[in-house]
Amino acid sequence: MTERTTGWFEPERIESAIAALAEFGAYGETGVARLVYSPEWVAAQDQVAAWMDEAGLRVERDAVGNVWGFLDGRGRDAAMIATGSHIDSQNPGGRFDGALGVIAGVTALAALRERFGQPERTLAVVSLVEEEASRFPTANFWGSRAIIGRIGAEEPRRLRGYDGVTMIEAMRDAGLDAAHIPEAKRADIGTFIELHIEQGPFLEREGLPVGIVEAITGYRQYLVTLEGAANHAGTTPMDLRRDPMAGAAEIIGGVIDTAHRMGRPCVTTVGRVNVSPNERAVIPRQVAFTVDARSPLPDQRETLLARHEALIHEVAERRDLALHLRIDSDRQPVRCDPETVAVIAAAAAAAGVPAMKMTSGAVHDAMQMAEIARIAMIFVRSRGGISHSPEEFTTAEDAALGIEVLARALHALAYRA
Ligand SMILES: [Zn+2]
Repeated sequence: MTERTTGWFEPERIESAIAALAEFGAYGETGVARLVYSPEWVAAQDQVAAWMDEAGLRVERDAVGNVWGFLDGRGRDAAMIATGSHIDSQNPGGRFDGALGVIAGVTALAALRERFGQPERTLAVVSLVEEEASRFPTANFWGSRAIIGRIGAEEPRRLRGYDGVTMIEAMRDAGLDAAHIPEAKRADIGTFIELHIEQGPFLEREGLPVGIVEAITGYRQYLVTLEGAANHAGTTPMDLRRDPMAGAAEIIGGVIDTAHRMGRPCVTTVGRVNVSPNERAVIPRQVAFTVDARSPLPDQRETLLARHEALIHEVAERRDLALHLRIDSDRQPVRCDPETVAVIAAAAAAAGVPAMKMTSGAVHDAMQMAEIARIAMIFVRSRGGISHSPEEFTTAEDAALGIEVLARALHALAYRA
């Protein structure tokens, strides 16, 4: 690895861009609550468009409100090299999740234009509409899904936010007409590289500023509903009970233990439990809970899911409980493009930025883009591994290093014929 002399980017400038964007939807001292299509979201997207314009990029807004900045290449027909992320946030979330990837893209393209002029292949940065599902629980990557052409015709009418507003109405409030959504579809993206905060503890534990993602996790999310017989907590002997809580306890303990024993990188979480009735002195009639199981390794994911499902069925049967097992979402892991991963690793080495290869346990827009493009991701260290919280923090120095790796990788891909 070459020794690092001076970086391409000043941390202070990255820091002030992060702070400026965080003004839109500011929440407390360090948080952001910027829900898709809200007035503060519109203002933030306008700010991003203004930055793209200042950077000398050709700015376009598509039919769902994704903002694109293009640095047109000489080769008109060649598929473009794109980067970017989302600017909506959790409610509230931090100022880095998504936003850093958008700022990184604009900053990188501005620097490439200044240093190297016109590329061979067109470079693009996109500020995506929605990733967090914080306003519409099932919007499910609204911005990137529009780009890959996977938004169903009935969705804008059907989707309703926590505020009761339909997607059609929310889009109208932001000056957009849902009837035009199909026009957001693109077929000209060859490669998509997303820079994102890690949102986990690995880089901090390794003492490294940057990670290079090789695969994004696959997952399956279940709703498990167990039904037994409600009865008096004092008068019903243990051996005569059909107690769904006993079954739930056994399954919840079991699935978590299974993931723990199988080891990294698989994870299983039970995050939500509904008990009915939810009373101190009543054996419940019904217990429903979620199971979220993930692994970036296809074989490990299959083994994990098979063990979970076998346990759920076995416990329900043995305890004479009625079982309803619903799958709410299911997705195979996505592999990053090995050639693009190698380009990013070479970029990190050339910049003298220590980096490690890793997997992503969180899902990202890049996962959607994988349906139409080669994808890769660059992670930047998160302090304490914390995200989806105003406590989220990444140092400006780490951000600047990540952006340099991104810029050098984009250069390697776009400035060769
Ligand atoms: Zn994000």
